[in-house]
Amino acid sequence: MGKIDFAAQLSAAQFRAATHAKGPLRVVGGPGGGKTRVLTYRIAWMVREAGIEPENILALTFTNKAATEMKERLAALLGDDVKIAASTIHSWAYRFLCIYRGKNADGILGTWNPNAKSSILADARQYFAWQQSVQAAKVDVAPAFAMHTVSRAKNNGVSRAALRSNAAEASDHKVVRACDAWHEYEKWQERMKVIDFDDLLILANELLARPDIIKKVHDYHKVVLLDESQDTNLVQWGIVRKLAPPPKSELTVVGDYDQSIYGWRGAAAESFLEFVQDYRAETVKLETNYRSTSAIVDAANTLIERNGSREEKVLEAAGKPGTVPFVRVEPDAGVEASRGVEQVRRWLADYEAGEVAILVRAWWLTRSFEERLLKGRIPYRVVGGPAFFGRREVADLLAYVTLVVDPTRDAALQRILNVPNRFLGAAAWRAVERHALKREMPALAALSDPGLRWPKKYMRDRSMDLYVLLQRLRRFDGETRELIEEILAKTRYMAWLKEECEPEELRQRKDNIDEMLTAAEEHPDPADFVFYAEQLTPKKDDSEEGVVLTSIHGAKGLEFPCVIVAGCAEGILPHERCEDVEEERRLAYVAITRAERELMMTAATLYRNRGYTPSRFLEEAGLEVPEWEPVTGPPETTESVATV
Ligand code: ATP
Ligand code: MG
Repeated sequence: MGKIDFAAQLSAAQFRAATHAKGPLRVVGGPGGGKTRVLTYRIAWMVREAGIEPENILALTFTNKAATEMKERLAALLGDDVKIAASTIHSWAYRFLCIYRGKNADGILGTWNPNAKSSILADARQYFAWQQSVQAAKVDVAPAFAMHTVSRAKNNGVSRAALRSNAAEASDHKVVRACDAWHEYEKWQERMKVIDFDDLLILANELLARPDIIKKVHDYHKVVLLDESQDTNLVQWGIVRKLAPPPKSELTVVGDYDQSIYGWRGAAAESFLEFVQDYRAETVKLETNYRSTSAIVDAANTLIERNGSREEKVLEAAGKPGTVPFVRVEPDAGVEASRGVEQVRRWLADYEAGEVAILVRAWWLTRSFEERLLKGRIPYRVVGGPAFFGRREVADLLAYVTLVVDPTRDAALQRILNVPNRFLGAAAWRAVERHALKREMPALAALSDPGLRWPKKYMRDRSMDLYVLLQRLRRFDGETRELIEEILAKTRYMAWLKEECEPEELRQRKDNIDEMLTAAEEHPDPADFVFYAEQLTPKKDDSEEGVVLTSIHGAKGLEFPCVIVAGCAEGILPHERCEDVEEERRLAYVAITRAERELMMTAATLYRNRGYTPSRFLEEAGLEVPEWEPVTGPPETTESVATV
């Protein structure tokens, strides 16, 4: 590997940061300022010029994707054989616990078996564990509520005892009950020898407090670097502070307060600002943007200046003026998506599909874009979450419609056999499946077959209820939307969902159901609707490169030559349920600054039968908002059907 010309490949400020000799350093800079680049070059400099052993360097990033990218960039600079530990704090914590927990660790850590195939509890298994725990605690609380409440507490470093006594004082009985379930959950974990993602951080933080251990760790991790620091939560900060304690450690933190967008999830952006005092750190500001055209940087700057709470800094574009970012306001979501996809097609004359991203504030907005991209035969990938028809609530309701249209669809029956919960779990399905196979009949027919031997007696009645319900639905004479409404009503799906989800998740799922109803109006014939939905249901091997469809949160730190920010309407961005408009403005800022060359921002004046106005952020960014027609006609007063 040749010599790296640091001075030539970095700006003066970047060079200063990358080659900072000793002691804590804070690198501050707007999007595209080269913060992540500096982090990479700083590591290269340490290895090449400062004589630091690669294994003594630990680089912490926000996502696995960012970690992989960091490793690739380092390999390009230093060669493949120089191995640097670059990971998320979670995966660092996992490896640390594996190595250091010791034979006689106590509590969960003592029983945890990291070698087991699934030693980290997540997703459906974690939810199941909470169901069991709520039952064992004999308390009346929704498992999902308990799960999310406890997770939030853990990430804020709040212990079970503290959460309980606070909740008791505030007479918040729901949280008190969640704490009772938490106790059972811990017992369950010990029995099963598993920990969850939150425990990874908490246990690592605790273990790092042991003097014998921290000494060994310091001998090994001599240098720590942290990217996206503004979105680090309190427990994570606790870990970083132990790995590299103030005031003197070799710690580099990199971040941008203007891009802190995880306040709602407990990120402690202030810690990033306070870092200077704690560590008496030197600060280097990166005030030139190397990512975007100056037209894009101007829009971003004009917007973020509106925020009151900021850290003083400027952001100047190194690039050419480029195309002026433009705004389109369309009469409805369908047209918004069609016009957006037309623009994508124009870009594809000059760019690869993977160089185009469509960013949304709320996930339900992806549906019309998925549809138009599919129709236009443009390859795309939904990144960071399931595609619209893969989302749980949407897939559940679709399974009902599918069974109505075609009773031989066994997979659909399997999906809804126990949804909403009717105590027909995995054992019940196995019985149905076995019987259906033996008699060579569809599973739905097997369900009502007197010959089927149920593992538990009560199951026969329950399954008959379901069978009768499906038969009634099959006779239901109405359009798709009415059919789905009927399904929602007859299964009491929303009430069930309410039990299953914490409030924010519930709202998102309701939004998706509302969006599904809109799609249903567009396909009034249920069979057509099923056909339409199945086309949009991604196959497993959909890994081909394509236009990226993702949330603004998920796009943090990334860059794309061409970007569409969709759904720029009041109530969506800023979100009507947001607590902090400044955080929403930062989100819009993050969205705009993902674009390198081309930026289009779009809104519709009608989403799901409700009138909207273009987002204030468009004008605040100094963009020209075209004339638009407010929605008139009969005011839509009917409440969303997906109410509880
Ligand atoms: P964000 O806040 O969005 O994470 P960032 O500050 O981390 O942004 P980078 O991703 O490091 O910014 O850099 C943005 C882009 O600009 C990258 O493509 C990077 O390679 C390029 N870049 C940064 N500095 C320079 C430079 N001095 N010369 C050329 N290109 C640069
Ligand atoms: Mg970055």
